Amino acid sequence: MTNTDALTIDVNVDVLIIGGGIAGLWTLARLQQAGYKTVLLESQALGAGQTRFAQGIIHGGTKYALTGKLTASSEAVADMPSRWRACFEGSGELDLSQAELLSDAHYLWSTTSLTSRISGFFASKVMRSRSTELDKKSLPSIFQHKDFKGQFYRLDEPVFNTLSVVRAIAEPRKKSILPIKQESLEHIGGQLSVRSKQGENYLFHYQKIIFMAGEGNEYLLSRFSCDRPVMQRRPLKMVVMRGVQNDMIYAHCLGASVNPRITITSHRDTEGAIVWYMGGQLAEEGVNKNDAELVQATKDELSDLIPWLELKHAEWGVLKINRAEIKKPGTTRPDSFSIEESNNVITAWPTKMALAPALADAVLTKMNNENIVPGTDLSMPGWAEPEYADFPWDEAECWSDQ
Ligand SMILES: Cc1cc2nc3c(=O)[nH]c(=O)nc-3n(C[C@H](O)[C@H](O)[C@H](O)COP(=O)(O)OP(=O)(O)OC[C@H]3O[C@@H](n4cnc5c(N)ncnc54)[C@H](O)[C@@H]3O)c2cc1C
Repeated sequence: MTNTDALTIDVNVDVLIIGGGIAGLWTLARLQQAGYKTVLLESQALGAGQTRFAQGIIHGGTKYALTGKLTASSEAVADMPSRWRACFEGSGELDLSQAELLSDAHYLWSTTSLTSRISGFFASKVMRSRSTELDKKSLPSIFQHKDFKGQFYRLDEPVFNTLSVVRAIAEPRKKSILPIKQESLEHIGGQLSVRSKQGENYLFHYQKIIFMAGEGNEYLLSRFSCDRPVMQRRPLKMVVMRGVQNDMIYAHCLGASVNPRITITSHRDTEGAIVWYMGGQLAEEGVNKNDAELVQATKDELSDLIPWLELKHAEWGVLKINRAEIKKPGTTRPDSFSIEESNNVITAWPTKMALAPALADAVLTKMNNENIVPGTDLSMPGWAEPEYADFPWDEAECWSDQ
């Protein structure tokens, strides 16, 4: 690091990452472990993008099996639950022992009226190796009701409190995370000029730059005059509900289609109240409804699936969020992470939070293949600490009284 003039601080790094969601943070940690001097720039707060909206389920590919496509990429996903779990237990590639495991497993349940495709799926070898059918006594308590008639399977896929993961990764590395003003980013001859939130100017000299800014990658690509890769947004409208029940559930309900009818995860708000956070087909179809219609559709769905649930005193909210991912010709959604380099810029999306470890592996492989070796300048300027995002259900404006 040198001071070229009073106003600009030059910083030499091996890798500069833009974006402090799960992808950027996981990659920051892995690159630093491998000896690369890496700095991460964040324009809002850590976790502020899709990561704080994620349901936190570490999928192992069972959903791909449901579509009948057990491909090579879904085999890679199959390792993710055990890699995340090892991190939580303190024996993995990162230390997530300070993160909160919401549930050791999540569940699939079906109503009695199953299509043959779904019955076949439940009977399939893939499902038999990855899941356990539960008897009534082992069900989450809300489903031990006398009127529950469907089938219930436990999947060995953990569910994490996403922002606790963000904090567990970022806290030991916060000196390498710079809060910036995004509009100040400028790409000047292979270097990046940026103003920090505190108003200092920095000029970063790097060997590699990686865009891991989720939906923000589109803006960054345009600022760097890159026309590849192309990003797509998949809008969702998620529903939150609180004030009804004391059960924490983590489950997908399967209906006639291969997409879950509803996916429910449970979280606690800052007052300790249980919030049910609901997505799946409900959230995809929700984008064609106004908020009141979507809340009504959710009430109808819950009354159909869990008729004994008393919804009279429920408080409701609707959250709009886009999934951001690579756009691939001929597909509607990618089923794995993506990483592409164009004009010396790497752009990546994990596609799923669960895949952040696999994406970081791919970054490290790329560094090795290109013979990029850690530099010798280890000096770092000191700067203000990064901020952490809040969960959307902890923001008062998310709740309406539909
Ligand atoms: C409703 C919903 C539920 C989901 N549930 C799950 C789930 O259960 N399991 C799962 O595996 N995946 C899930 N996902 C997918 C998962 O959330 C995403 O794949 C993942 O969080 C993306 O992480 P990311 O780091 O790429 O992007 P983001 O989390 O969006 O982070 C990008 C970061 O970059 C920052 N940024 C943006 N622009 C700039 C800039 N110009 N300069 C500096 N910083 C910038 C943002 O502020 C943000 O902090 C879900 C997604 C949604 C929307």
